[in-house]
Amino acid sequence: MDTKKRAQEIIDILKREYPDAPQTYLHFNNEFELLIATILSAHTTDRSVNSVTPELFKRFPTPQALAEASLEEIRRIIRPVGTYNRKAVYIREAARGIVEQFGGEVPKTIEELSTLKGVSRKTANVVLSSAMGVDEGIVVDTHIGRVTQRLGLSSGKNPREIEQDLMQTIPKTKWREYARLLGAHGRRICTARRPRCDECAVQSYCQHIARHE
Ligand code: SF4
Repeated sequence: MDTKKRAQEIIDILKREYPDAPQTYLHFNNEFELLIATILSAHTTDRSVNSVTPELFKRFPTPQALAEASLEEIRRIIRPVGTYNRKAVYIREAARGIVEQFGGEVPKTIEELSTLKGVSRKTANVVLSSAMGVDEGIVVDTHIGRVTQRLGLSSGKNPREIEQDLMQTIPKTKWREYARLLGAHGRRICTARRPRCDECAVQSYCQHIARHE
């Protein structure tokens, strides 16, 4: 079976498995909040980010407010997310970039978003797809990348290569859905250390389990 057909079948199965899976697990009310939350989410859990963002956005609700914030206060609020010294600088600089380069509005392209401090291609894809409904690329986070490789839908060695493969394989209208479903499967069943293969609805497509049998 060719890769495109396999990918489509996997999407159809996972759609039945996870009908209510969210597009992102980060809490946000607008694109600015999701951008900042996604920068904070590097190397930490969504839960820990969600524990600090209510206070952060109450205190600094706009790019302008965050751009003028003291690093000391930002650090105090975001401390639970880890590497908070660096992240405090990133989010304040990103807010300053939005104010100074984009008139206070979060930009709507990967190229422009990537000029902001701390914003990777993955972060840009998250903000565009989950907050703005723009599909310029496919979100490949640690879960999506891992499950994609295990299911043999990409042999890419890094998120950018995996994304390139997926953009060739998956129709653009399904990019967002693919990320949502694979993210859910990676969190709930196909976890990094102990995947629950006995409960996996797409086990018959898996290359990872085949290698270990
Ligand atoms: S069979 Fe196991 S390793 Fe393969 S996709 Fe399912 S949970 Fe992941």
